[in-house]
Formats: sequence, structure tokens, C-alpha cells
Amino acid sequence: MWGMIATWTMAVEGITEGSHILKNHGDAGDAIEIAIKAVEDFEYYKSVGYGGLPNEDMEVELDAAYMDGDTLDIGAVAAIKDFANPISIARRLSKEKVNNVLVAQGAEKFAHQEGFERKNMLTDRAKIHYRNRVKAVKEQDIKPYSGHDTVGMVCLDSHGKMTAATSTSGLFMKRKGRIGDSPIVGSGFYVDSQVGGASATGLGEDLMKGCISYEIVRLMKEGMHPQDACEKAVNELDIKLKERRGQAGDLSVVAMNYQGEWGVATNIEGFSFAVVKENEEPTVYLTKNMNGKCVHEVASQEWLDNYMKTRMAPLVEK
Ligand code: ASP
Repeated sequence: MWGMIATWTMAVEGITEGSHILKNHGDAGDAIEIAIKAVEDFEYYKSVGYGGLPNEDMEVELDAAYMDGDTLDIGAVAAIKDFANPISIARRLSKEKVNNVLVAQGAEKFAHQEGFERKNMLTDRAKIHYRNRVKAVKEQDIKPYSGHDTVGMVCLDSHGKMTAATSTSGLFMKRKGRIGDSPIVGSGFYVDSQVGGASATGLGEDLMKGCISYEIVRLMKEGMHPQDACEKAVNELDIKLKERRGQAGDLSVVAMNYQGEWGVATNIEGFSFAVVKENEEPTVYLTKNMNGKCVHEVASQEWLDNYMKTRMAPLVEK
């Protein structure tokens, strides 16, 4: 059995590419890297890689991570600027004995020394998004941080090896140097090939309060199906945050276990995810939390066409 599960519709082309590797008995590390790179490279996905949304200083600072579920190797970069594929740098870092997680100039120095491709990741389209948001924040009562999404994936290959990975530009208009859950092991991602893996998207500051990805893997280790583990982790954290703090941010998670069974949970309207498996073509689902149970529905072609149309629509400066 092999398979991949990923957060958001934007991952579907990536997991399709990854599935070609898995079908040919390739490696879960190669499949997940290629899949995340596809999302990073597509400029119309505005919260990951090239074309990602900038911070408050109009700089694109990116977070990414990679974990190998066999060896438990971890690599991550945070607040890195001007490199094309943060995921590849994270994977490369996972092979080091120490210094596996690097931030900002330290990460850039390493990437430069290792010969990774440099690229100005700030697109004209992202600049328009930025200027529009600056205006909107001044003129209306709008939250500066809304508008973000991380691509997070879990992958199982036909040899039983599992990997997890993330990549994101983080919260739109975040403070310079701000790091979310995505490069933080246990929060944005976790995987153990003997159990399964999980990855998260949403408000990093709140996802981290529950170490949510590790929690899901822990629940699966206790014997829970990934769907039950995801629902329990999201619902409990959502309730806890509301009880203790009066509110909970967006929490959405995907998980797959070592047998290729998967689960998804969210506390928001409109969370989408993508799955491919040995006997299942790449499919996008939409999910809804109905009193604690998450119900998944296959996205229609019309919905998918509309999704792409909106992403690529010309952007006007307001
Ligand atoms: N979790 C990401 C962060 O807080 C953003 C997202 O997934 O939407 O940086």
C-alpha cells in the first residue's frame, strides 16, 4: 500500500506528481519533496513558496520542514528569504547530525553554501495583495493576518517508509521573524513509520498550544483510526482554547497511518484536502465539522474549476 494526504486543494497537482514516484515503488522522501515543490513553484498559490504573501515589511519569509518516519530525522528552515524551494533545504538539513533547524540568515547561508537556487520570491501579484491589505486595514475593521494556508503532507511508500513535510509563507502581514507551527516538529508535522503521520494548517500560535500533530500520532499509536485521532485532537484543543482563552483560531489537520488509512478534521468552514492512494486517483475533498464529526465530500469539477479561476483571476489595485 502507498498513499499521500495533504492540506488544501492547492496540493492536488503536487500529490499527483508524487504518486508517479510511489506507483513505481519510489521513496516517500522523494515523493513528498516533489509534491511540495510543485506547490512552492506555482505562483498563483499565494501562501506557499513563489508568490507567497509577504510579512509586514513586504518581505516573503518562508517556513518549511521535513521528517523521515523511519529514522525520525528532522530538518526545518524558518523565516528564510530568497530561495526557490525551502522544502529541499529542509530535507537536506534533515541529513545533518546536528544543526537541523536553521532560521533567517543562518538558513540562507547554509542554502547558499549548498548551492540551492536563489530566487526573489516576491511577485508583483503579492505586492498588490500587500498594498490592498495595507489600505483595507486602514479603512475597514479587517484583521491584518487573515489570508494564509500551509501545504502539509504525509506520505507512505510501498516499502512502508513514511514522511511528513510542510511549506508556507505563514500569516499574511506577520511580524518580521515570526515563525508559525509549520517548521516546529510535533506542531506542524510529525511522522513515525511504525504508526503514522500528521500535519496541520491554521493559526500557528494556537496549533502549537496543543502540539497537535504529535498528539494525533500519539492517539494513533494507542490504536485509534486516523479519522478518530484527528477529530479528538481538533475538538479537544478547540474546546480547551475556548474555555481558557475565550476563543480558538483555525485548526485543520490531515493524517495517515502506516496502513494507508487516513483522517481529516477541522474547526472551520471550507477546509479542503487532497488524497491519493494505491487504489484511489488523486481526489480533492471538502470537509465540515458537524458537532464534532467531520464529514467529507468529494469536490465537484465545477467547484475545482471555480477554485482555479479565482486563484488566477487578474488582481486589481484598490
Ligand atoms: N499554520 C501557518 C502559520 O501559522 C499558517 C496556515 O497554515 O494557514 O504560519
